[in-house]
Amino acid sequence: MKKLLILGGGTAGTMVANRLSRELDLMEWEITVVDSDPVHYYQPGFVFVPFGIYKKLDDVIKPRKSQFAPGVRFILSDIDRIEPDSNQVRLTENDLVLSYDYLIIATGTHMHPEETPGLMDGEWRKSIFDFYTPEGAFALQQKLRTWQGGHLVVNIAEMPIKCPVAPLEFTFLAEWFAHERGIRDKVDITLVTPLPGAFTKPRTSAFLSNLLEERRINVVPDFNIMEADAEKKVIRAYDEQEVPFDLLVTIPVNMGSEAIERSDMGDELNYVPTQKHTMRHKEFENIFVLGDATNLPTSKAGSVAHFQAEAFFENFLRYIDGLELIDSFDGHANCYIETGYGKGTLIDFNYDVEPLPGKFPLPGLGPFSLLEESHVDHWGKLMFRWIYWHLLLKGKEIPIPVQMTMAGKWA
Ligand SMILES: Cc1cc2nc3c(=O)[nH]c(=O)nc-3n(C[C@H](O)[C@H](O)[C@H](O)COP(=O)(O)OP(=O)(O)OC[C@H]3O[C@@H](n4cnc5c(N)ncnc54)[C@H](O)[C@@H]3O)c2cc1C
Repeated sequence: MKKLLILGGGTAGTMVANRLSRELDLMEWEITVVDSDPVHYYQPGFVFVPFGIYKKLDDVIKPRKSQFAPGVRFILSDIDRIEPDSNQVRLTENDLVLSYDYLIIATGTHMHPEETPGLMDGEWRKSIFDFYTPEGAFALQQKLRTWQGGHLVVNIAEMPIKCPVAPLEFTFLAEWFAHERGIRDKVDITLVTPLPGAFTKPRTSAFLSNLLEERRINVVPDFNIMEADAEKKVIRAYDEQEVPFDLLVTIPVNMGSEAIERSDMGDELNYVPTQKHTMRHKEFENIFVLGDATNLPTSKAGSVAHFQAEAFFENFLRYIDGLELIDSFDGHANCYIETGYGKGTLIDFNYDVEPLPGKFPLPGLGPFSLLEESHVDHWGKLMFRWIYWHLLLKGKEIPIPVQMTMAGKWA
């Protein structure tokens, strides 16, 4: 049997395992996935939880094991370390050692609030919250149920973070929520970011800045947080600039898995050096890296994991047949952005082309609008949960091109 081992059974690991279980002959191949968490989270749903749009844990979770196709072996264990020179991985569960012929690293990224002094001192989950974890999102839901207003500060500690549009979505939804609750006049909202503007790409940043201004949301750019002073209720930057808050929603430092650090296979944030267009590990030719675990300069998003996985399938089948890999991943990302009031927008871009206005996926027809607010885009975002569980994770084909196309875009 040839052994394919997949580390991480999140978005990327699950879709790849399921797709390959159909592409490969399971009489010859053993596909194993390892993950330490028995639950699979629909992470894009976390942004709706604080506002009660998704109310219950059941709205965003399913058992992890049941997401895998028959024929995929799932092991519930923490991964201790990868030993790439001997093609093996050590697990913490029963000191198990798994050998592999081919390895896929899909261990994602997660938040580290302890990296910013003061965030977790005393006020954590009292007046300082996150929404990047289910615990954080539901604690914030409880807080907002009785919130009477004040200064809401949304702070991105450091880039890169997973889903770089999620803080913006949270901010827009918070403004809408205050309006709906009839407390908008008692609420000040400020987005505090290390970026020079609202987003990483200039045209999107300009579009979103206008929208933020329209909604009376302040932006403090170029703010590199040094600490949170929970007693004085301010966040402080390295240049000593301070922003006061009554309610702080933080997007803490994001880092790759500790297993990558223990394996000495990552950069300073535990992201794995990956070839930009093939997803192959930069050093080991039988290792591929997918999803948020890579060090690639594209968004850390489920849509990116999907396009990477599509590009990877073809290359993996070429590789095992002894053919050259092709440079098929172009950094394609496609993200809905909720903007509140039942509206949203969509951005579609890659390594080289920033998000442009237009219609998607059918040129001229849509139904989705790029860099323009629409109700249809909001419905697209809500529909995405069904697509995630029923098509994406199952490794089924979705009729959106893997490579970004200029058709339907206005340059
Ligand atoms: C609030 C929020 C909103 C988002 N919104 C969107 C959106 O609208 N659109 C979009 O495309 N994306 C969105 N995302 C991002 C998207 O969820 C991620 O980019 C995607 O899940 C990445 O997939 P992945 O497989 O790389 O990582 P994950 O799905 O996070 O999976 C990684 C897995 O590795 C496992 N793992 C890690 N280390 C170990 C270890 N040592 N031992 C065992 N197991 C381990 C983890 O348990 C986890 O299950 C959002 C994310 C958040 C947090």
